[in-house]
Amino acid sequence: MAAALVVGVACTCEKVVTAAPGSEAPKPHSTVGKTPIDSNIDANEAKKPKNTTKNSHKTLKLAAGENLIGVLRRYDVNTQQAMALIRELKPWLDLNKLTAGKQIQITLNEQGALTAFSIGVRFATTVTATLEDGDWQVRDSTLETELVDEHIRINVGRSLYNSALDAGVAVEVIQRAIAVLSHRVDFQRSLQDTDVFEVIYQSAQLIDTHQLSKKSEADKVNFIKLTVSGVPHLLYRYRGNGESQDRFYYADGRPVQSFLLKTPLNGARLSSTFGRRKHPILGYSRLHKGLDFGAAVGTPIFSAGDGKVLKASWGGSFGNRIVIRHANGYQSLYAHLQGFAKGIKAGSEVSQGEVIGYLGNTGLSQAPHLHFEVHKDGHAINPLTLKTHRYSAGKLSGAKLEAFSQTVARIEAQLKHSYSKQNEQSEFVFNQIIKEYQR
Ligand SMILES: [Zn+2]
Repeated sequence: MAAALVVGVACTCEKVVTAAPGSEAPKPHSTVGKTPIDSNIDANEAKKPKNTTKNSHKTLKLAAGENLIGVLRRYDVNTQQAMALIRELKPWLDLNKLTAGKQIQITLNEQGALTAFSIGVRFATTVTATLEDGDWQVRDSTLETELVDEHIRINVGRSLYNSALDAGVAVEVIQRAIAVLSHRVDFQRSLQDTDVFEVIYQSAQLIDTHQLSKKSEADKVNFIKLTVSGVPHLLYRYRGNGESQDRFYYADGRPVQSFLLKTPLNGARLSSTFGRRKHPILGYSRLHKGLDFGAAVGTPIFSAGDGKVLKASWGGSFGNRIVIRHANGYQSLYAHLQGFAKGIKAGSEVSQGEVIGYLGNTGLSQAPHLHFEVHKDGHAINPLTLKTHRYSAGKLSGAKLEAFSQTVARIEAQLKHSYSKQNEQSEFVFNQIIKEYQR
């Protein structure tokens, strides 16, 4: 587990939330190093009044290998009604994707017959089906949430990923932060245990805990800081008017992300590099004009940079392929795709990191992989040696820089507030320890 720098938060009990009956117990470490900047959520943990009808409510968990029909059978719902319910729920829920442990709430009348059925369909939304005169009436309800900024500060420890997870950071937030930082930090080599990682992200939190919904969902990452061997990288999220994607910048407005990504997919293995080699299918030696990345069929492929799709169609030996034109005379090509992302066709405008297609094994390809090429002024170049930082066009200026500076100032104020709160907490705990000791 990561050594949290924030002493005290783990020991004060004001943040410990009592779980509703039947719901998961709170993880003891989930608040370590975590400081909700907006602290008015504490007052909202009051329980809802108890239902006073003679109906009884039960919360069930889907067993491994069990489906909804199985649950309904347990309560003697006849096949016709079970099928009708499943039909009604279909628009809300992918019934094939229900996993073991999924919670369901049922209502039984005095005779023990099932009269209502509730299930969470996504964060903060539940659907309830009520049996009325033999027919299921389905309605959804949205649970009230509020946005809270979370600030987390940890030591990198043995793995930034695991340390952040231990400190309660949502997986999506960690992945986002690593993806952004990887433009500037070599994660394979340069990180040390004592390096410090900080993040501020927005999360939507349920105002009242609810058995059928998880308590919070991470949303936007607003600020990332990683100090590598004493050198801090402070990155701020900003999206200008009319821009389709969030980007990260240094405080002076320089973009963090490079002009073109060298690796347009996640979790892949580089299986063949740029250069002359013997072609596995054609047999003779020729120039391999790109990089091959091995990964599972269906892995999302990202656009390496902002640009315009020139081709998204069948390309002979390339199979399904996409060609994108970028600024400064660059083009990128993605081959052997299983298929194209929705809306991707010749003429589409794409942003860096946008999903454009899915890895496949189409055309002249021996195994599932992405063949990725980058061309500069019509010549294939090695994407790994791209010196795209020279093209960090996109430095903010004028009105954009002004708006961005306000974002930076707001985050700095948040940080200052959060640090002073953390200091107060650690001082409080320190004094408690001293008192205990002197007793
Ligand atoms: Zn290739």
